[in-house]
Amino acid sequence: MSHWREMSPRRILQSFALRCTPGRKSILQILLQSEQALTQDQIADRLARRRRPLNKVTIYRSLECFLRAGLVHQAYQQDRIWHYELAHRCGKTQCHPHFSCYECGRTFCLPEVSVPLATGLRAGFVLVRQKVRLEGLCPDCQQQPADVPAESPLS
Ligand SMILES: [Zn+2]
Ligand SMILES: [Zn+2]
Ligand SMILES: [Zn+2]
Repeated sequence: MSHWREMSPRRILQSFALRCTPGRKSILQILLQSEQALTQDQIADRLARRRRPLNKVTIYRSLECFLRAGLVHQAYQQDRIWHYELAHRCGKTQCHPHFSCYECGRTFCLPEVSVPLATGLRAGFVLVRQKVRLEGLCPDCQQQPADVPAESPLS
């Protein structure tokens, strides 16, 4: 489903059998143009900056509707706040992994990373969707401290 970026918001809404309103189109546009998952507040900020402000209730309701339709996923929670993203870079039973940096606290989408689907579930458990969260250091936070030698001076 990676062709979403070439589709108009109107056509995407149509293909999910969702009513096309100016507000929904604007929210979809923001999500289409973002490489990262966004919180409701971040969506509200970006809409305001583009002079298409929407109230929080409208944003909340639109996202709920997009979630139910499978157009949007709740990617991850950070500081107990959900981050939303379009589902087009996710598989049927698995979302792309996310990587959180210990140092700067940012979380990155890693659509190019593939993780095998969990196997060996006990009887009775039905897997619907796998979401993987990786943790570590991002490229920006990886400079080695100057007082740590790259190799131990043993000789
Ligand atoms: Zn997803
Ligand atoms: Zn970082
Ligand atoms: Zn993501």
